[in-house]
Amino acid sequence: MQNQRTTTEWRELDAAHHLHPFTDTNSLNEQGARVITKADGIYLYDSEGNKILDGMAGLWCVNIGYGRKDLPEVAKRQMEQLAYYNTFFKTTHPAVVELSHLLAEVAPQGFKHVFYTNSGSESVDTMIRMVRRYWDVKGKKDKKTLIGRWNGYHGSTIGGASLGGMTYMHEQGDLPIPGIVHVEQPWWYKHGKDMTPEEFGLAAAKWVEDKILEVGADKVAAFVGEPIQGAGGVIVPPSTYWPEIQRICQKYDILLVADEVICGFGRTGEWFGQQVFGFTPDIFTTAKGLSSGYQPIGAVFLNDKVATTLAEGGDFNHGFTYSGHPVAAAVAHANVKALRDEGIVDRVKNDTGPYMQKRWREVFGQFEHVDDVRGVGLIQAFTLVKNKATRELFPNFGEIGTLCRDIFFKNNLIMRACGDHIVSAPPLVISKEEIDQMLETAAKCMVEFEKQLKERGLV
Ligand code: PMP
Repeated sequence: MQNQRTTTEWRELDAAHHLHPFTDTNSLNEQGARVITKADGIYLYDSEGNKILDGMAGLWCVNIGYGRKDLPEVAKRQMEQLAYYNTFFKTTHPAVVELSHLLAEVAPQGFKHVFYTNSGSESVDTMIRMVRRYWDVKGKKDKKTLIGRWNGYHGSTIGGASLGGMTYMHEQGDLPIPGIVHVEQPWWYKHGKDMTPEEFGLAAAKWVEDKILEVGADKVAAFVGEPIQGAGGVIVPPSTYWPEIQRICQKYDILLVADEVICGFGRTGEWFGQQVFGFTPDIFTTAKGLSSGYQPIGAVFLNDKVATTLAEGGDFNHGFTYSGHPVAAAVAHANVKALRDEGIVDRVKNDTGPYMQKRWREVFGQFEHVDDVRGVGLIQAFTLVKNKATRELFPNFGEIGTLCRDIFFKNNLIMRACGDHIVSAPPLVISKEEIDQMLETAAKCMVEFEKQLKERGLV
């Protein structure tokens, strides 16, 4: 069925009927969408026959790489056996039981309980409801406010978009909802002034303490953050930040929540981002790498303290038709097992991750308008800057990033611009040779980019 139409026909029908997420519809339709028809390993193929290196693993999710033959087999078998049943009516099924058991094995110690959703946004919304319910059950009904961060990303639902700190999302639809406040992000390059990164990490954590005191500790339910801010531009906090955040949350009796939707399932070389930064949250949210995008599924992990309290509260009035969907659960199970048993996560930690980080810094550190070259495991970024010596960013943050991103696209390499941060998160199965190839193309694109900056009089 797929190959019955021409690219033009697909584009016309797409423009006529399909609204794309986070897209300026009219400008896309003038141009026409790129039609992706198949994928294998780290490569995508479009309807024009182009082979494109996916330096973003889709939307940071195809951890295991494209084109696995075993996962569709698992899906087929599960569909034939039990395509669907819910887990509301005092029922369960083997697929969800096996997945939960495996997740308790790969999760950091103390996380033995999971609640299923269909996406990262649903995981975040579920977490918001759990956090508020937790304090209800504890008899502290005023503890309702969640603290998020400016430039954090927690999804597109009303709860997730509110908790996130993307002002361009807040502006569309009267967000945030009540009971959600924000503090500044721990981005040393912009906010660190003359502090060392370590000093700045403590100063940034202090912003959270200040906010708790401003709102009143008796009203604050939780602090929520991504271990590394992903969509905000791969902001890697200083090493001092997360342990200090944990200390502050403990001091004021506030739940600590990590949004591991991007960092989870091996992206950083550890199973979860919290293990890189040495902190232990009470709850963490996941999706993406849980199934490597082969099925839509998310999961919220709870420590014993939270799980026990929610259970003491009796009914938790929350859940989705597809919570723990059998096909999604079976595929997620096979995916997580393969990430572990095939040594894919270990390889990111010990081999390809360190290699990428070394090469990434060597290749991009040499450009005149690139600075803050950073990353861990297979998540990395750099920032396009006007003047390295003074840490001066370009005006109209994001304009230059798009220019740069478009040059990568033209050269069949997908890296993403988040403002003027250029970010990358390829499938975890990328080999060292493929890393070399990716960086060689990227370096050529950067030469072209810096040439264009000069030609356009932007520097
Ligand atoms: N949290 C984080 C940290 C994310 O990066 C994302 C998606 N990029 C989400 C939540 C939302 O996930 P989804 O798009 O699956 O709803």
